[in-house]
Amino acid sequence: MLDHLSFTEPQPKVIAGAKGDWELVIGLEVHAQVSSNAKLFSGASTAFGSEPNSNVAFVDAAMPGMLPVINEYCVEQAVRTGLGLKAAINLVSAFDRKNYFYPDLPQGYQISQLYHPIVGEGEVIVDMGPGVARRVRIERIHIEQDAGKSIHDMDPNMSFVDLNRTGVALMEIVSRPDIRGPEEAAAYVVKLRQIMRYLGTCDGNMQNGNLRADVNVSVCPPGAYEKYQETQDFSHLGTRCEIKNMNSMRFIQAAIEYEARRQIAILEDGGEVIQETRLYDADKGETRSMRSKEEAHDYRYFPDPDLLPLEIEQEWVDAIAARMPELPDEKKARFVKDMGLSEYDAGVLTADVDNANFFEAVAQGRDGKMAANWVINELFGRLNKEGLTIQTSPITAAQLGGIVDLIAKGDISGKIAKDLFEILWTEGGDPAKIVEERGMKQVTDLGAIEKAVDEIIAANPAQVEKAKQNPKLAGWFVGQVLKATGGKANPAAVNEMVAKKLGG
Ligand code: ADP
Ligand code: MG
Repeated sequence: MLDHLSFTEPQPKVIAGAKGDWELVIGLEVHAQVSSNAKLFSGASTAFGSEPNSNVAFVDAAMPGMLPVINEYCVEQAVRTGLGLKAAINLVSAFDRKNYFYPDLPQGYQISQLYHPIVGEGEVIVDMGPGVARRVRIERIHIEQDAGKSIHDMDPNMSFVDLNRTGVALMEIVSRPDIRGPEEAAAYVVKLRQIMRYLGTCDGNMQNGNLRADVNVSVCPPGAYEKYQETQDFSHLGTRCEIKNMNSMRFIQAAIEYEARRQIAILEDGGEVIQETRLYDADKGETRSMRSKEEAHDYRYFPDPDLLPLEIEQEWVDAIAARMPELPDEKKARFVKDMGLSEYDAGVLTADVDNANFFEAVAQGRDGKMAANWVINELFGRLNKEGLTIQTSPITAAQLGGIVDLIAKGDISGKIAKDLFEILWTEGGDPAKIVEERGMKQVTDLGAIEKAVDEIIAANPAQVEKAKQNPKLAGWFVGQVLKATGGKANPAAVNEMVAKKLGG
């Protein structure tokens, strides 16, 4: 399936302005909100944008005596995500308490999985351009609770808290430090998001905070990373800093660039990078220290006594595996192989699951290349221009398929098809009916075409003489006939007729 990809060696980012050569090493911890109607340990709704504190069960508010009850569907979603990342599924995992106090975490601890995560090692194939990819290893995925939201900007004297998000299920997806540059880091998040949207396990909405990343960055001299790879010994790598809570691909890249320069400048100055947590300030384009390792919290993790170890059956995992949808890499490979699409077009069409489904509905039973052309060039082009998406598209897959059918049958030319697209876009309706009712059908009736050709020839005797000397001028007649018929005459038939008349 991956035969068409060539896996490149890491392309370490060269940092301009540095005195020596440095390589970047990056590992990501991605927090993905599980798509589920209810929270991880309560039946409260996860709906985004609800009235503050309206989706809060007693257990979310940490009322005394309340006990958590695991939501099986959230576990299933984590397993599905693990399978999508070709990862090991651990049949026994366990929940731990990570203790810290925060107003939007009323329990005083977060339930997480430190020692025994539900998903073990896997991998993500990161696309770096048509036919070029990199492998990034996944270390683990664990399930944990999200916290609520503190609001400090509504009142000058008071802070507010909204517990709607408290207890919503998150998957923390931890990568190995296999990412070697800012573009690769963004491409990794793009691919994770893509896979989870195909799986339906996370909607990937970064604006709503449903997907956010902690980005660990270090720099090292050339050769050091190879030593780490051989030995898996982290001491070959430089000291890392962790940039917290990034929720935009653009900021992830900018923050890594800035952080790498900052660390290199320190090292070239004879200094030492201090392991710490940093925040990215998007306005200034800088990272700044949040807390150092010395002031790091001691979370006093211990197994949560309210929850039994989580045991799942292999048969249950197998049943989830049997219901897995086709994943982006597979779908893309199929589009290339079975429909003859270019690697690039297949990539565009499979980038988002909703787009891919739309295209498949258009291509169903039709010429794949023609369908791809109409979806990418006409539809996506227009959607982009008008700031719309496939979800808000005024044209349905059935309508676009109808256009493709009319072209394939020879009922309309490519030019008329664009007019038809315009009508469907603004007025809607049934493509075949519109063509019928508005007389847009292509003229393939040879008698009618002959009449039109004769008329143009009769009206232009001088041009006819010239064209008899120089056959290339026949094109002018074809153009005139098409113009006279309002673009409805079948161009191939007109061509043939003009050649016949001028030649004869
Ligand atoms: P913690 O949970 O304390 O943040 P982890 O060992 O779980 O620490 O690592 C978190 C992330 O940091 C992982 O994604 C890992 O790949 C990455 N990482 C570890 N060492 C380095 C390093 N030297 N440079 C860059 N990233 C690193
Ligand atoms: Mg961390």
